[in-house]
Amino acid sequence: MNGTSQRSTMQKGIVFDTVTKMRCHPTADMVYEKIHTEYPTISKATVYRILKQLAAAGEILKIPVPDGADCYDFNISPHYHIKCTDCGAVGDIFLKADPQLEAADTCGYKVTGCTVIFEGKCGTCRGDL
Ligand SMILES: [Zn+2]
Ligand SMILES: [Zn+2]
Repeated sequence: MNGTSQRSTMQKGIVFDTVTKMRCHPTADMVYEKIHTEYPTISKATVYRILKQLAAAGEILKIPVPDGADCYDFNISPHYHIKCTDCGAVGDIFLKADPQLEAADTCGYKVTGCTVIFEGKCGTCRGDL
């Protein structure tokens, strides 16, 4: 292993750990800001590139958010997301039945993925919490 790939493996670990610790569906910018405070030498481009690689490898989830920046999720178990229509905060939705499975028999398609974003108001915006 040469020095470059060692460094990139280390950077990958830092990005992965940061997403795992944040637990709040951070955007790439939020992940970068967090990393930057501890590792000022890691560039924004590097963080963005590693996030994409981790998502492509299935190690984290990339959540496309309508009208917003993509979010990342350490939780790769099947679940869905809800976006607050007021503040844009992204939360988790767990359904009892998985629509992906129900869709599997239709039209001869093999379902390989599913992007669903629910909309609602978070507790903070409803004034409950
Ligand atoms: Zn909200
Ligand atoms: Zn999630």
